[in-house]
Amino acid sequence: TTSNAPQRISILGATGSIGLNTLDLIGRVPDRYSVEAVTANRNAVALADLARKHGATFAVVADPDAYADLKAALAGSGIEAGAGPEALVEAATRPADRVMAAIVGAAGLAPTLAAVRRGATILLANKECLVSAGALFMNAARQSGACILPVDSEHSAIFQALDPAQTKNIERVTLTASGGPFRTWPVDRLTDARPEEAVRHPNWSMGAKISVDSATMMNKGLELIEAHHLFDIAPECLDVLVHPESIVHGFVAYRDGSVVAQLSEPDMRTPIAYSLAWPDRIEAPTPRLDLAALGKLTFEKPDLERFPALRLAIGAMESGGGAATVLNAANEIAVNLFLQNRIRFPDISQIVEDVLEKQILEGAGEPASLEDALEIDRWARDVAHAVIPERLDRAV
Ligand code: NAD
Ligand code: MG
Repeated sequence: TTSNAPQRISILGATGSIGLNTLDLIGRVPDRYSVEAVTANRNAVALADLARKHGATFAVVADPDAYADLKAALAGSGIEAGAGPEALVEAATRPADRVMAAIVGAAGLAPTLAAVRRGATILLANKECLVSAGALFMNAARQSGACILPVDSEHSAIFQALDPAQTKNIERVTLTASGGPFRTWPVDRLTDARPEEAVRHPNWSMGAKISVDSATMMNKGLELIEAHHLFDIAPECLDVLVHPESIVHGFVAYRDGSVVAQLSEPDMRTPIAYSLAWPDRIEAPTPRLDLAALGKLTFEKPDLERFPALRLAIGAMESGGGAATVLNAANEIAVNLFLQNRIRFPDISQIVEDVLEKQILEGAGEPASLEDALEIDRWARDVAHAVIPERLDRAV
């Protein structure tokens, strides 16, 4: 590809919050990017609309039951339709310069890993990949030469603040956290927190799963594990600072006392634009930061009593092995049940803790292959389902 030819981009999870923001940015600079493959879980009509609008060549639904609808919706467009896990992997490995990995959860493992193995530049939003199989992903990237660019705002901030020539001089890497919608709720009230309250994030507009993760602060725990793998930073050099305004996204502290941070309004189009254009930059139509209007920024320590999920994730990062794989899978099950109103908010971290305890007994090791990771993931989901009935009795 010459520098003037449009860059080809595939978007896994195109119908989601990150996927739509990515397409919005790409649509503003059509000379610069062309869309190759787009995927969704099962919303065939929405996917077909996006594929047509952006001139994609291939559209894939993960759910085979949605294939007929997709074919019908794409009729006459010349866009190829696919469905199921193999088609998802094919979408991820079609020749494209950059692959936006924005499927939510461990469902993104196989296609994202396939894109890494092909050596594409990966714009990684799907943090669950690195949580569930971080060493595997980073090794695969080293082997294929794939470049992994973070999309998560905190990791984008760290990537921008971290001077690659100075890695030996890094003392500390800090991720900021908004504290989510329940930061100031009395702890007893959390028992009655409803899904619609949990997904109403004060600063960011995001998909349902990550919004609940932000409310439990599991999201920040997943992000610590993500940062640990992405930047090869030891767990003891990583920490979290609660920053309710979500303006400073991350800090890198160096041995000479210097601290480098990245600031921007909380709008995912800024880190997405960065990942799309890096090492260049493109325009993002986001509100501009006005520090004088904000007046002040505040910071506080995270409350691990109120947010046990963060404590559990830190524990899983420190213990290594398959603990993070287990944590991630149990959390996905628990968050889904909470979103369906079948368990209470505090049960989410309780279920994760119960499953992690069983993992310590059975000792799942670090996944060495995709099959390993998927097997540990499946085991943890089964255990989560087994520990749930006792919690269901207490549900509203
Ligand atoms: P979302 O729920 O809005 O979108 C998820 C996308 O994945 C959709 O396109 C959906 O169709 C697809 N999908 C869901 N289940 C699938 C399955 N089983 N198989 C294949 N595809 C499936 O989620 P989102 O908020 O866009 O988040 C996507 C990822 O990016 C998550 O891992 C999240 O943690 C991460 N992330 C999101 C934000 C944000 O602001 N939304 C910020 C940082 C990181
Ligand atoms: Mg984040």
